[in-house]
Amino acid sequence: MRKFRTIAAAGLAAGALFTLTACNSGTPSGDAGDGGDAEAPYEVASDVSLEGSPTYDAMVDADEVTIGVKEDQPGLGYLDATTGERTGFDVEIARWMAASLGFSEDQIDWQAIPSANREQALINGDVDFYVGTYSITDERKQQIDFAGPYFATGQGLLVAADSDIASDADLTSDVTVCSATGSTPIQNIRDNYDAQTEEFDTYTQCVDALLNGTVDAVTTDELILIGYAAQYPDELKIVGEPFSEELYGIGVPKGDDALRDFFNTTLEEGGDTWSAIFDQELGDAGVTPEQPAVDRY
Ligand code: GLU
Repeated sequence: MRKFRTIAAAGLAAGALFTLTACNSGTPSGDAGDGGDAEAPYEVASDVSLEGSPTYDAMVDADEVTIGVKEDQPGLGYLDATTGERTGFDVEIARWMAASLGFSEDQIDWQAIPSANREQALINGDVDFYVGTYSITDERKQQIDFAGPYFATGQGLLVAADSDIASDADLTSDVTVCSATGSTPIQNIRDNYDAQTEEFDTYTQCVDALLNGTVDAVTTDELILIGYAAQYPDELKIVGEPFSEELYGIGVPKGDDALRDFFNTTLEEGGDTWSAIFDQELGDAGVTPEQPAVDRY
């Protein structure tokens, strides 16, 4: 097992309002509780000291971290209702961040929050941070902050296997496209295409509508669509090239710069951890693994 790397203060932006240390002597994470992978490529840090983060202080007081996620996006954020196991790239990134703060799987309270409710959940303090295909946008940054990005993808199209739709150029006014309320993809369709829109809380509902023929296409990030297409290889297909850039960030409460910097440093100083998580969760997805550079805005 790879050791979780000691986080060096040297990498932090000048004037950072906190100090932190993370030792290598922690308990291996992920094999406790109801979800983790026994071979998790990180360990739960001990002796963490993170000053100036009200969110972290609240976690320590509660002896628990509340993380907002998706749970119906296979490969990214998924809850197996039968086994209770949570899997996916986002979930594993979330576990890694929790571990870097000293919290193990059995100290994580997972909260499924749909796209439209993410900012409010962070504003209300319902979650300490959010990891779930959450694109970094200037509009969202008015209300919350983002660490990362930790992945780059783009908006794609999922259609029925026998559909004539071949790319976003076919999203004409006689086509109905489904996406999630409050998402960047539905906004892009509204702003830049003539197609009709249908929206639901979750992409799973859109996929159901596509399977029963009430919509012509589902649009969201290609990485999400890959997971659904794999569930229905005979019925559904992904078409065209990605037609937006979506950079996934870790949502944190606005103004908690200490927590944001901590996550950015963890992402930057993680060595092979990111790649190991990617290989474990998305190794079969046919996507090129590339960790984007952190943007300390
Ligand atoms: N990444 C896009 C967004 O943040 C779409 C995926 C999602 O809704 O989570 O809006």
